[in-house]
Amino acid sequence: MSPPMVPQANPGAGYRALRTEIDTAVARVLESGWYILGQEIRAFEAEFAAWLGAGTAVGCGNGTDAIALALRGLGVGPGSTVVTVSHTAVATVAAIEMVGATPLLIDIDPVHFTMDPAELAAVLADPPPGLPPIRAVVPVHLYGQAADLDAIAATCRRHTVALIEDCAQAHGARLHGKRLGTFGEAATFSFYPTKNLGAQGDGGAVVTRDPALATRIAALRQYGWHQHYISDEVGVNSRLDEMQAAILRAKLPHLDAQNTRRRAIAGAYDAALAGSHLRPPQRRPDTEPVFHLYVLRVPDRPALQARLRADGVGTGIHYPMPVHLQPAYKGRVALGPSGCRETTLAANEVLSLPLYPELTDAQVEQVCTALTRLRDG
Ligand SMILES: *Cc1c(COP(=O)(O)O)cnc(C)c1O
Repeated sequence: MSPPMVPQANPGAGYRALRTEIDTAVARVLESGWYILGQEIRAFEAEFAAWLGAGTAVGCGNGTDAIALALRGLGVGPGSTVVTVSHTAVATVAAIEMVGATPLLIDIDPVHFTMDPAELAAVLADPPPGLPPIRAVVPVHLYGQAADLDAIAATCRRHTVALIEDCAQAHGARLHGKRLGTFGEAATFSFYPTKNLGAQGDGGAVVTRDPALATRIAALRQYGWHQHYISDEVGVNSRLDEMQAAILRAKLPHLDAQNTRRRAIAGAYDAALAGSHLRPPQRRPDTEPVFHLYVLRVPDRPALQARLRADGVGTGIHYPMPVHLQPAYKGRVALGPSGCRETTLAANEVLSLPLYPELTDAQVEQVCTALTRLRDG
């Protein structure tokens, strides 16, 4: 008899693990009679910024809007180019076009799957012809691992372009002991249900150390109001509602322990893979990843997926098609000189194993056994 399937992701388990605290938070908001921009979001913004260790947080509707609001807050819009990667959730690129800016997609380093700092330096020194000036760079801390921020930040400083960290997959990860999201001019977070800190619905936040920028973004998220009903500039409606803010407040105190559990599970998978032809995810020196995903690179992906499925292990692919090859973008989005070659190769080989803190020891064991069986042929 085949064992029950271990799903690759399981947001319902995240709710059930903290059911009492989440139900209490939701009931508190329902009873309060105040559902939008009240004390829950104010408290969550303060608690999240304190947990990050720097800056001011501004809650918003989702992680895509957070990137768009950060760009708009920094004055990046039509007539600006924004550099990011093609190996990311399409949201990163969609947000750049939402504000009217032009995305320029560059390649990844094939070992860590994050922005290639050499290509970034090349496009800033010698921008591709025909594009508006480059005003911002959005590296993505993909899979919970830090991008090469030392090199990327130095290049951004040299060319005076804004650095916006896309932290949608990296809540709590560290570089040089500091949390990601505290290095750039701004950082953006998503609280989509499967993220390391997930709401029971949509949510997002922008974090910045610049108080004036935080004030501007807080106005932009609600029609450009600094004062009720008076728009000082044209804004949008992108608010984190009180229910989601209260749920996030209930979950935040558990996040460090959950990230520790994710690292322990990743360590168990690493050990199970030792001696096989599959290489565990590589960590950059002086970083502490949070394993939003545990991603292998496998040349024979369909066959491997089938073997894991037969052993009751669900897998996912993040992401099966690079942004620059998707129908909405293909042939029209600007690429760096690499043509995103490594990105295209990686998209055919990445494979995500189940990884979330609610996995039971028995489920982790089941995945490890399946990995060991791969090793033994
Ligand atoms: C999830 C995600 C986003 C977008 O977040 P939403 O809340 O779904 O809008 C942006 N960037 C990356 C890297 C993501 O993983």
